[in-house]
Amino acid sequence: MKHQLPKLPYALDALAPYISKETLEYHYGKHHETYVKTLNDLIKGTEFEQSSLEDIIRKSSGPVFNNAAQTWNHTFYWNSLSPRGGGKPSASLGAVIDKKWRSFSAFKEEFTKAAVGNFGSGWTWLVQKRDKSLAIVNTGNADTPLSGADRPLLACDVWEHAYYIDYRNSRPDYAAAFWHLVNWKFVEQNLEAVSSQRMAVPA
Ligand code: MN
Repeated sequence: MKHQLPKLPYALDALAPYISKETLEYHYGKHHETYVKTLNDLIKGTEFEQSSLEDIIRKSSGPVFNNAAQTWNHTFYWNSLSPRGGGKPSASLGAVIDKKWRSFSAFKEEFTKAAVGNFGSGWTWLVQKRDKSLAIVNTGNADTPLSGADRPLLACDVWEHAYYIDYRNSRPDYAAAFWHLVNWKFVEQNLEAVSSQRMAVPA
């Protein structure tokens, strides 16, 4: 099974001025593309050749895991952003956030702090735990909530390649820009999937 670089859900210049066309040319067009290509090269002739991306992430380690997880994480990240994003989530998602953090601004502050403080290369996630509560989670390098029980709802890539063209070394400036782009509809869809799954379980 050959893994494909998914189509970007918007034009390369659609996230400007918060994330430039040049950043997406490199980040999507070169970094993400290279993870996919490297993964396809690495799995040739191995037990993972016919596996889904999710299966590879759950069963592999080393370079195969790194390139599979980075392939998946980036697709999730592109969908976490939208040219029509930003602002506040819907009332229903807002209520779940308020339940955990008391206010949207307190949530935003804690997520930003986690993203800025995630040492080195990694990812900051909003996830839904098994008990349905929300949490902010940092992972390092290629690590992804997909390996465990947490269900990812939103991702912020904090690798330097996500922001050095637009913000040089300033991750705080990138983290501030991120809030103008958050695709709350995508976050809500990920949350809804949990609710409908729960409803499908017979009482
Ligand atoms: Mn990246």
